[in-house]
Amino acid sequence: MLKLVCDSCSRVFPASEKRILCECGGLLHVEAASVDVSWETLRSRRYRLWRYRELIPLPPGAPIVSLDEGGSPLIQAIRLSEELKVNIMVKLEGSNPTGSFKDRGMTVATSIAKFLGSKALIAASTGNTAASMSAYARRAGMIPIVLIPSGKVAEGKLGQLQLYGSVIVEVEGGFDEAMRAVLEYSIGGGDAYIVNSVNPWRIEGQKTIAFEVADEAGVPDWVVVPVGNGGNIYSIWKGFKELKDLGLTDKLPRMLGVQAEGAAPIAKAYTTKVYEPIKEPKTIASAIRIGNPVHWKRVLNVARESGGSIISVSDEEIIWAHRALARLEGLGVESSSATTLAGLKKAISEKLVDKNEKIVFIATGNALKEPQTMNLHEAATMKMSTLKIVNTTALSEVLKSITKNA
Ligand SMILES: *Cc1c(COP(=O)(O)O)cnc(C)c1O
Ligand SMILES: [Zn+2]
Repeated sequence: MLKLVCDSCSRVFPASEKRILCECGGLLHVEAASVDVSWETLRSRRYRLWRYRELIPLPPGAPIVSLDEGGSPLIQAIRLSEELKVNIMVKLEGSNPTGSFKDRGMTVATSIAKFLGSKALIAASTGNTAASMSAYARRAGMIPIVLIPSGKVAEGKLGQLQLYGSVIVEVEGGFDEAMRAVLEYSIGGGDAYIVNSVNPWRIEGQKTIAFEVADEAGVPDWVVVPVGNGGNIYSIWKGFKELKDLGLTDKLPRMLGVQAEGAAPIAKAYTTKVYEPIKEPKTIASAIRIGNPVHWKRVLNVARESGGSIISVSDEEIIWAHRALARLEGLGVESSSATTLAGLKKAISEKLVDKNEKIVFIATGNALKEPQTMNLHEAATMKMSTLKIVNTTALSEVLKSITKNA
């Protein structure tokens, strides 16, 4: 019933096998028997992500390793909706236990690792996978081993690795080099269980973003997702398709994937029809600074199948959007997550998205991960001493002058 199937050659492997890739090198996906479940049953449960347990296949007898992830807020963007003449809602994945959507996949992958009897987890990461994996490894009583690009991980994420006591392997180069090292380790038969997004079980957890959006707001016209390796946009699309197949929804959204201009091999392939990895990906958004995305074929497929698109935005546009989400809506997100707003603006100007359409942004990570990026935006900081404020009357005079100009 439950099995792992190769995307490329359709070879089938048992779900209980400790296997990440097909023998042909192709990516594997999980296939499970159809289930009979209603929204009432799913809604009646106290857990967040695991309320969808019938839709998250696990081998029989697998224990669940969880930090009660999922259940993230879906917030209406009031001013941006008005200004752009569409209806925008933002799914705040930064509210997950380690501050990004990665926790949704990690609860499932770690459960499988526990089931397989692994003693350690390993992953290459731009930071958030490493932070999430480290927390879940500790939760399960395992050792977290992370391969990160030397000097290129945001401070918040590095701090998390120290906090969880991860074994850190710094790799010269970028994420792509770290990823290659992990895959070689896997092919060499290493003991630690690989939980990069090539791990098919992570996809099964990340699907729940679609379930929550559909349950709370119905299926929107567009879902906008930042694209790094492309595992997340593929997962969300898989989730929406499954809901429709089960008769729990009656339509599908169009998927808009957004990459950063300096790291946009998929957006480029979408228009040129030729895929070429980028040797030295560059962007301020380190979570999506990836030159050779593992899921590139799947992402192109999602865009075509859903009638969506894959586009790219510049770092200037990302920084503008990062600030606009915070200052117009009060939403603090990672720079990579801000590509959603930058991408939507572009899609509207290219007449891809129409007036009054219903849009959901997947705000993948929390602003607190990147102190240096937050510091790019100036605040109206005043030190009481330099202003020589000695009483509240003087303070209110100064503040009056500021609010008048706001
Ligand atoms: C991992 C990550 C992404 C990219 O997701 P992919 O599945 O690699 O496409 C985007 N934003 C944040 C904050 C992330 O942690
Ligand atoms: Zn294969």
